[in-house]
Amino acid sequence: MRNFLKYFLSLFSLGFLIFFFITGKIADKLLNKVEILNNYKPSQHAKKLHKELIIADLHADNLLWDRDLTSTTSHGMVDLPKLISGNYALQVFDAVVKSPRNLNYLSNSADSDNITLLAAANRWPIQSWFSLYHRAIHQSELLKKAVQKSSRLDFIETQDDLKYFLRLRKNNSYKIGAILSIEGLHALEGNFQNLNGLFEAGFRIMGLVHFFDNKIGGSSAGESKQGLTDFGKRIIREMEKKEIIIDLAHASPKLIEDVLRIAKRPVIFSHTGVKGTFDSPRNLSDAALRSIAKNGGLIGIGFWEEAVGSIHPASIAAAIRYTSDLIGVDHVALGSDFDGAVTTSFDASKIILLTEALIQENFSDNEIKKIMGGNQIKFLRHNLPVK
Ligand SMILES: [Zn+2]
Repeated sequence: MRNFLKYFLSLFSLGFLIFFFITGKIADKLLNKVEILNNYKPSQHAKKLHKELIIADLHADNLLWDRDLTSTTSHGMVDLPKLISGNYALQVFDAVVKSPRNLNYLSNSADSDNITLLAAANRWPIQSWFSLYHRAIHQSELLKKAVQKSSRLDFIETQDDLKYFLRLRKNNSYKIGAILSIEGLHALEGNFQNLNGLFEAGFRIMGLVHFFDNKIGGSSAGESKQGLTDFGKRIIREMEKKEIIIDLAHASPKLIEDVLRIAKRPVIFSHTGVKGTFDSPRNLSDAALRSIAKNGGLIGIGFWEEAVGSIHPASIAAAIRYTSDLIGVDHVALGSDFDGAVTTSFDASKIILLTEALIQENFSDNEIKKIMGGNQIKFLRHNLPVK
């Protein structure tokens, strides 16, 4: 009997260790894959131009995974060394707090959640296993810890922070600015006051919904496809008062329409494709693109197959070309969705391949400077809280 107990306990400990130290890493490796295109190389023109760019990306999900942002990993798409070798200036880091099982782009209920298991497997604080709000707070702490650990990473919360960072970066191009964002305001847990808590934690961009409907409104992949709720209206007003940037990514067409009707400040749509090059329920119609441009907003074009039709940089450049021709180059940005459980053809260190694809798409050097980061920096300089 005693032997059996010993056997059982060692098996249990082994299971425990596997779950808490390996499961999260396996999920990360399986879900975030880079499939390198061997025949796609940057030209001399791209190499010269890329050095002059100030690069900024509106959406990456790597806070979700069991990694140290300040050191490089063999898998995944974003970490500090990869951002530096890609010549990035700025990355928006997202907190993802809930993701439904059997996720799809058509209809997901809000009843199931994969992040609970991941939160446990990643050894996050127990409070965060049971609270979407605390998951957001924990991910904000992960980013801030990385900022404390590395002098190369700066946390940006205000227009003044951004101006200071850009001045510093002129003399030290090995610096990366980090902005915190959240993917879905179900993180409020229906509590209006929690918006203060998220703001205090440093969240400056907030996505309203993710792959399912929440108390704010309908998702493009939710069941109802509804617009903005009364609670959502109160939240939008408060966000604008606090100068929090509204991210309409994942919003249903009705929610986009409702928010743009009342928004007084420009919005972003951080990561998406466009129906004009790839017709998917998650992608933006011409009408939605025009409304966002009219609002002064910014569209981040994604790098993954289900957004732009293939993982080839030429497909990303084609979506950027279409959007730019329709609403003007000043409204187009990058929204990679790196590390967002997607497959891409390059990681952050090889973003020069997109510079090459934009050259091949006949964008001028000046337009490429805007798309790769100029537009994003200009937008943030005007729309982050002043100080
Ligand atoms: Zn997303």
